[in-house]
Amino acid sequence: KPRLLDDEEGGVLFFAPSFSSSSSRFGYSSIEKQRQRLPVYKYRTAILYLVETHATTIIVGETGSGKTTQIPQYLKEAGWADGGRVIACTQPRRLAVQAVASRVAEEMGVKLGEEVGYTIRFEDVTNTGVTMVKFLTDGVLLREMMDDPLLTKYSVIMVDEAHERSISTDILLGLLKKIQRRRPELRLIISSATIEAKSMSQFFQNSKKHRGIEGEVVGPITEPAILSVEGRGFSVQIHYVEEPVSNYIQSAVSTVLLIHDQERMGDILVFLTGQDDIDAAVKLLSEEVQNRGRNSSGLIVLPLYSGLPRAEQDLVFTPTARGKRKVVISTNIAETSLTLEGVVYVVDSGFSKQRFYNPISDIENLVVAPISKASARQRAGRAGRVRPGKCYRLYTEEYFNNEMSAEGIPEIQRSNLVSCVIQLKALGIDNILGFDWPASPSPEAMVRALEVLYSLGVLDDDAKLTSPTGFQVAEIPLDPMISKMILSSSHLGCTEEIITIAAVLSIQSIWASGWGAQKELDEAKLRFAAAEGDHVTFLNVYKGFLQSSKLSQWCHKNYVNYHAMKKVIEIREQLRRTAQRLGIVLKSCETDMLVVRKAITAGFFANACRLEAFSHNGKYKTIRGSQEVHIHPSSVLFRVNPKWVIYYSLVSTDRQYMRNVISIEPSWLREAAPHFYHQQRPNPMLH
Ligand code: ADP
Ligand code: MG
Repeated sequence: KPRLLDDEEGGVLFFAPSFSSSSSRFGYSSIEKQRQRLPVYKYRTAILYLVETHATTIIVGETGSGKTTQIPQYLKEAGWADGGRVIACTQPRRLAVQAVASRVAEEMGVKLGEEVGYTIRFEDVTNTGVTMVKFLTDGVLLREMMDDPLLTKYSVIMVDEAHERSISTDILLGLLKKIQRRRPELRLIISSATIEAKSMSQFFQNSKKHRGIEGEVVGPITEPAILSVEGRGFSVQIHYVEEPVSNYIQSAVSTVLLIHDQERMGDILVFLTGQDDIDAAVKLLSEEVQNRGRNSSGLIVLPLYSGLPRAEQDLVFTPTARGKRKVVISTNIAETSLTLEGVVYVVDSGFSKQRFYNPISDIENLVVAPISKASARQRAGRAGRVRPGKCYRLYTEEYFNNEMSAEGIPEIQRSNLVSCVIQLKALGIDNILGFDWPASPSPEAMVRALEVLYSLGVLDDDAKLTSPTGFQVAEIPLDPMISKMILSSSHLGCTEEIITIAAVLSIQSIWASGWGAQKELDEAKLRFAAAEGDHVTFLNVYKGFLQSSKLSQWCHKNYVNYHAMKKVIEIREQLRRTAQRLGIVLKSCETDMLVVRKAITAGFFANACRLEAFSHNGKYKTIRGSQEVHIHPSSVLFRVNPKWVIYYSLVSTDRQYMRNVISIEPSWLREAAPHFYHQQRPNPMLH
């Protein structure tokens, strides 16, 4: 019997179609039926018509209306993948790429990696010649342009989640506009969850018409078409806190418990900012549930962030069993990229982790910052998928009305542009400031990026890629500083070590921080701690891991994240192959850590810092911008405070913290980057 929900809301009875596992017990309606029930289905013919006749189609539709999973299938059904052509659909986030691809493969009844596949950095699950629908990050599509500048294998490219305005999406949009002029047969779909269709449409407006020999207009209509998919979201009641909260993790946890005590069944989605606070909230909530015993049984607490092992990701999508309530604590990946069925309550912290870059101090860091009104509305909308829902905002109404900005700032205007510049250069775009950007980056940031790339030896005096260094750095799918570190390791004879370090740095963390036992974790770290710093510590962990016979047991004992280590091995293998392709000799320096530190310096000299004289609280200043920074407590050099260090990244909370730190000698800086530290601007701090 279908569940009838009680009639709190004025005698209205709500039927919740996909609200519990009951639907499977009573026979899941066929996948085909489910597909037809999605809002986008009504627009199938219209979409196919517009794509057929227009070079660019802009589709706006509420999250969950079926844009990502359905439109690529419609295109395939209509023949856009015939004759060996491929339909591409890009996403800003890796986790979304995987989740959506596996969903579409399931709907099409095919094995993932065959007709439907996906590619993210370091992971290619496609089969050339067989794959017709391919999901990929926009960053990966940019990389593909290096080998195939016109992206000839694709018939349609759907740039999804365009409202996110990730840095790669913006670069991609600019380049696709260029490609369109050369490939009239290519079709673009720009899809997005919010209405900024107009500016997007203007951006694609002035695309040149294609002319035939006689000057007649040929090919598709170049004016973009705009289609708005009407959603069927239910109303969402908004609740605000009356007083600002001091600790949003704590408040989120109490709000979840309150909902669980007082509200009808329905899953809860909590928006926090990143792995750290999500793990903390999961732990707090699980403890509360335990303490309260039977009262809170039936509450299933799950984290959701990128870097989560596959099995844990899948749990999030599993329908909630009858009588249970799922609480998913997520980053803003659940804001628009992923749809979770069954969510009725949303708890919104009002924050997300955002990248910010200051070209003056040349510092980029991840900051927990307030979201925009547009984001807050999206988050609230997640509560109204299956029936009217409720959203609990952990900020005041006054704050929402008067303090929150209307829209977010495109990532390209708040990022360090080093990677962006090198990618465009590699694609032969020389006039980067004159590039057709959907939103222009700041000239200061651009100049800073050019300066760093010049110092890295990647660009020459004419701002062209150097040969071979520049081209090699561009070819490695990593941050240019890491790529340079790898290249430098070649003549220092420590590439085996450096690619291990590069692999570890490219994942979030190899430590099992989520288990909550901070003291035990710190002790475990000490077993591997190297006096030189975190990078060398990683080498010790890697060595220990390889030498152990029972890998997962070893990880458990040493507070190392087994899945992360497996990923490290995988990425390392890819880097090894890339290095070989670039002609780098894979040598090991055995125990000589001096050369390892020199190779790191060759890539990361721009992140050098010096301990302030007489500083008792470990205060460092960046050499370049004289910014105050501290060593992060998670570093093995925390409280050790060597005089000179180089960091991998900065995070900002109450202070600016350096994560992944290694000690260096100041003379190496001048050796590695004379231009940066000496010739151009004599730096008194180095003397
Ligand atoms: P949009 O891109 O418009 O936000 P999607 O195409 O991602 O919408 O999702 C459409 C619907 O497909 C969702 O509402 C959900 O019902 C279903 N769906 C999507 N991904 C999954 C998944 N991984 N597991 C189960 N259902 C899913
Ligand atoms: Mg989508």
